[in-house]
Amino acid sequence: MPELAQPLPAVFISHGAPTLALEVSPERQFLAGFAARLGKPAAILVISAHWDSPQVGVLGGQAPSTVHDFYGFPRSLYELQYPAPGAASLAADIVDLLREAGFNAALDVERGFDHGVWTPLLLMYPQAEVPVTQISINARKSPYYHWRLGRALSSLRSRGVLVVGSGSITHNLADCRLHGARDNAAGLPYVTDFADWLAAQLANGQLEALLGYRERAPGATRAHPTDEHLLPLFTALGAAGVSWSAERVHASVMHEGLAMDHYLFSASSGALCQPAFS
Ligand code: ZN
Repeated sequence: MPELAQPLPAVFISHGAPTLALEVSPERQFLAGFAARLGKPAAILVISAHWDSPQVGVLGGQAPSTVHDFYGFPRSLYELQYPAPGAASLAADIVDLLREAGFNAALDVERGFDHGVWTPLLLMYPQAEVPVTQISINARKSPYYHWRLGRALSSLRSRGVLVVGSGSITHNLADCRLHGARDNAAGLPYVTDFADWLAAQLANGQLEALLGYRERAPGATRAHPTDEHLLPLFTALGAAGVSWSAERVHASVMHEGLAMDHYLFSASSGALCQPAFS
């Protein structure tokens, strides 16, 4: 892949419920238009909340399958396929980059695309012609660990790789009505409070506050009883570089409890700020 004069941004996508792929919704319409703005990358690297591994798994198959890793949804959802090619050679390079940065990383040539990968990509790039690879999160590790993961991979943006964090800005399924009507577009108060706090920290470049969100954000532990759905945001943010700017490109709430904000992270020439976390 040739070097780009202007590296691609990195993005965070709230993938919502799997029915995002079926239902007409503002989020679905937004994602199609967002891809048009981003253009067609050379390859896509997704870090999804739905692959949790003690070491960093890197999806390395040539033709990954579409995994329907959810239960109790309409039959038509299980018939959807996302037949994008894998990105085996890029995956091998990612393993090297991660190992050079001190991570324990390994290829996984058997794994397919979980729904955190294929539901947003089905809407963004429905032709499924861009090669896709994926890395795993480690839900036992901190936001800072996931930010460093992104830092280790930021050079990929100059090679035309779109780094996508796929999770959810809030994710407490006990507060969601997954099968109900879209009867509360504004969301529960703590959902919007948390989403707006996060947006303010991102807009103001408050990396330390973001990495310490569980102690600092209003309603953090209710918004994320476990934080696997927010961890991909930190990797996308890290991939944007040490100096970054964030654009909240979409904000909405699904099923009362799922804040569906999406973000675009770009390298900026602002002040450098290294977090004092370990
Ligand atoms: Zn999910």
